[in-house]
Amino acid sequence: MDYQSITVAGSGVLGSQIAYQIAFEGFDVSVYDINDDAIKDAKERIANLKPRYQKAAKASEADVNAAYNRISFHTDLSESARNADLVIEAIPEVVDIKTDFYKELGQVTPEKTVFATNSSTLMPSQFAEATGRPAKFLALHFANEIWKNNTAEIMKHQGTDPEVFDDVIKFAKAIGMVALPLHKEQPGYILNSLLVPLLEAAQKLLVKEVADVETIDKTWMLATGAPQGPFAILDVVGIKTAYNITLAKAEKTGDQEFKKLAELLKTEYIDKGKLGKETGEGFYTY
Ligand code: NAD
Repeated sequence: MDYQSITVAGSGVLGSQIAYQIAFEGFDVSVYDINDDAIKDAKERIANLKPRYQKAAKASEADVNAAYNRISFHTDLSESARNADLVIEAIPEVVDIKTDFYKELGQVTPEKTVFATNSSTLMPSQFAEATGRPAKFLALHFANEIWKNNTAEIMKHQGTDPEVFDDVIKFAKAIGMVALPLHKEQPGYILNSLLVPLLEAAQKLLVKEVADVETIDKTWMLATGAPQGPFAILDVVGIKTAYNITLAKAEKTGDQEFKKLAELLKTEYIDKGKLGKETGEGFYTY
């Protein structure tokens, strides 16, 4: 089945980008969020994407305006998703919020509607039952700054209909994404399954004082041909995010190295305003 009518639920950081990307590729998109304030923010966020697309996709002003005009905004879920072929959910990463949302969504959409979650850390099987249609549910995970980081990780849960999986892969390609299919559930999908251990290993080498930032990055880049080393990647991710992840791990495992690392990230970087590339300084100066 070709999806034509698309609803994006949740219009925050990622939802806005997903909605605009889909509209930019020529589809009509209905955006749903909880209240007028959230919709007002979404309109502003989406309008701010226009110059980015003009620059990155070399789009004309007419093109970016036409894309914006293909988006409608709603605070009533049934109105927004009444005729949807596909609903992409990008609401907060909170189990209860998502569960309640899927229960309602299952009741207000026609039988044909397929649901996809953009969740970064929660598995689709956690919500499959709440949707009331597990066979038509899966994960479709986008990356931040979708217009240039155009990956779409598409992940089944055990009960996903293979035809739905194939249709979503086709849809992802139709909206300008590189489709990356995952045939089984995997926390962190492909990217973070690879990236998180690499970043963690690099930071442990640093905290154990085995080598400095530049040497660790240089080793990785020269030996693998990668354009960036782990600390340059961490600067893009942001030191606060790295700190939050490390702190959670330290608390969960009691691991002394993680504890020391969390302390280092806080005192040497966060407290000194070195939050990563966005602030002009992190492990490197920009
Ligand atoms: P966000 O906080 O920026 O946006 C969440 C949006 O959902 C807000 O507009 C909020 O008003 C709305 N919302 C809250 N409750 C709702 C409800 N019950 N129904 C509908 N809308 C509701 O969050 P985000 O960063 O865009 O993340 C959203 C999802 O996307 C999460 O599952 C997250 O894991 C995933 N994700 C985020 C990123 C990222 O870099 N931010 C990347 C990939 C995936």
